Amino acid sequence: MAERIDGKIIAAQVLEKVKAETAKLVGETGLQPGIAVVIVGEDSASQFYVRSKGKRAEECGFKSVTHRLPAETSEADLLKLIGELNDDDTIHGILVQLPVPDHIDDGKVIQAISPDKDVDGFSFVNVGRLTTGQLGSAFVPCTPAGSMVMIRQALGTDDLSGLSAVVVGRSNIVGKPMANLLLAANATVTIAHSRTKDLPAVCREADILVAAVGRPEMIKGDWVKPGACVIDVGINRVDAPDTEKGYRVVGDVDYEAAEKVAGSITPVPGGVGLMTVAMLMASTLISACRAAGKEAPTF
Ligand code: NDP
Repeated sequence: MAERIDGKIIAAQVLEKVKAETAKLVGETGLQPGIAVVIVGEDSASQFYVRSKGKRAEECGFKSVTHRLPAETSEADLLKLIGELNDDDTIHGILVQLPVPDHIDDGKVIQAISPDKDVDGFSFVNVGRLTTGQLGSAFVPCTPAGSMVMIRQALGTDDLSGLSAVVVGRSNIVGKPMANLLLAANATVTIAHSRTKDLPAVCREADILVAAVGRPEMIKGDWVKPGACVIDVGINRVDAPDTEKGYRVVGDVDYEAAEKVAGSITPVPGGVGLMTVAMLMASTLISACRAAGKEAPTF
């Protein structure tokens, strides 16, 4: 039976380290990390995420500011606010909660954030830093960064030399940065997607299998190489009329079947999903350390 990679425990460890390192930074320099979260409109899932980010930031000892803008906010006004936050020395991480309303170009908004405060790691500069292997100066998208922490813990090593990794999914926010992080850690990486031929056979080659597809339980137990480390990024709602909510949340991997074959595996819920906000806090602290001219901790 596979070892369960517990997102609750690993995310709590990351947050403890962020808290301790924040106290140290404040003690040594007086500089308090600051995060600004911007949300446009009333989308209830987004409001939930924004509240949880603000709460975690305060727990870490950060200054936390939330800008709640009405849905009819113009693109120009949003860009003006981002410009002000870019110039604000008390803010080290800027996060615009996506999606933004249709009349706003999200690409323009993301690229307007200063690369040095882009803790989501979506700006072209940070994508370029990651792909050229400059991890010391890059901000990396939080979900793949959190997945990497889990992989390193599960395998007990930072160096993935000699291991083959398969990432299923090629999105800009998960699949591609995940593949680049694995490559930077010396894994031999394959990126699979909807046009890949014989996906089960490709997956079976993986010592490390990362699923970032968005299709409930698509990856079956017999797609998993015995002993593999399986990271399930998927978050999918499926009907469950017999439950109170009427749905349950499952990953992209058939957990019950895969845990019989894998060496280690993340559950859904309770896995990668819990790492994202923790890594956002880690990135904001790293940004503040850089602003203070101090060596940043690694996570
Ligand atoms: P996208 O929809 O942007 O990308 C999905 C990828 O999966 C695409 O590259 C697509 O291929 C590929 N794909 C789709 N169908 C198949 C198939 N049948 N076989 C092989 N590949 C396929 O999703 P995201 O990357 O944004 O998210 C993926 C999952 O991760 C979702 O469930 C999402 O909810 C979850 N997620 C979780 C986060 C968290 O834990 N905090 C954060 C972000 C996402 P192609 O490019 O060819 O279309």
